[in-house]
Amino acid sequence: MRVCTLASSSKGNCTVVWNDSTCLLIDCGICCSQLEEKLQYLSIDPHSVQALLITHEHSDHISGAKNFLKKYPTVHVYVYQPAYTTIVQKLDTIASDRILPFCKAGFMIGSLLIESFPVFHDAVACVGYSIYEGDQKMSILTDSGIITKDLLMRLYGSKLVILESNYDETMLWNNPEYPTYLKARIDSEHGHLSNEWASHAVCDLVEHGVKQIVLAHLSEKNNTPELAKSFSVKECEKKGFIENVHYLLDVAPASTLSSIYYLHKK
Ligand SMILES: [Zn+2]
Ligand SMILES: [Zn+2]
Repeated sequence: MRVCTLASSSKGNCTVVWNDSTCLLIDCGICCSQLEEKLQYLSIDPHSVQALLITHEHSDHISGAKNFLKKYPTVHVYVYQPAYTTIVQKLDTIASDRILPFCKAGFMIGSLLIESFPVFHDAVACVGYSIYEGDQKMSILTDSGIITKDLLMRLYGSKLVILESNYDETMLWNNPEYPTYLKARIDSEHGHLSNEWASHAVCDLVEHGVKQIVLAHLSEKNNTPELAKSFSVKECEKKGFIENVHYLLDVAPASTLSSIYYLHKK
């Protein structure tokens, strides 16, 4: 299984997960032409995409979905059941039989097993995903105001975790461009994950054997890649975990491709 983030920020999110027989997207918050270009760069034929998994209905996750689905009519959309009606409305011209609701049980798309878990966000319903190819597991968790022990446990056993590290609290609260209500929304338990929250999660994941973590969905106004990374690295150092010795930590680029992460089935 291979994983690559195609875009990752408060402006647009899209991740591709694929192997030789199955290709799926998680979210489609970039325009169709950009998506096609990025897939082609990875030598992925856009016609080979079987499924689009949606985390939630905010535009940074679905803005490009309608046009992509119109152009590629064999792609099915998978949506967490409580968000189904909202997503059907947002994708109004897409036939509703292409939009498939799922509940908490795992399900297969081609050769990949998909599991989902609800997160804490001010959407109708928002989920994170774990995707398995045999014994290999990757997880993605963004758009959550907090992380609980239950959520962390969903991530254990992953070879790769893509984790939100959205904002620096000081930058957010000192940002003159943001009205107070918006700052409070982002900083709330149903907003986004701060660098500090993410750093504690990263440390816990490393402690539980996760070796590769990608910080994602950074705010372009209230964070920097260096700052996000330094929070997590410092937190891990307190527990004696050293970057590049005990774990690898990347930051997903906002609008360009990340590294390709290879998870090898045993
Ligand atoms: Zn959101
Ligand atoms: Zn988002």
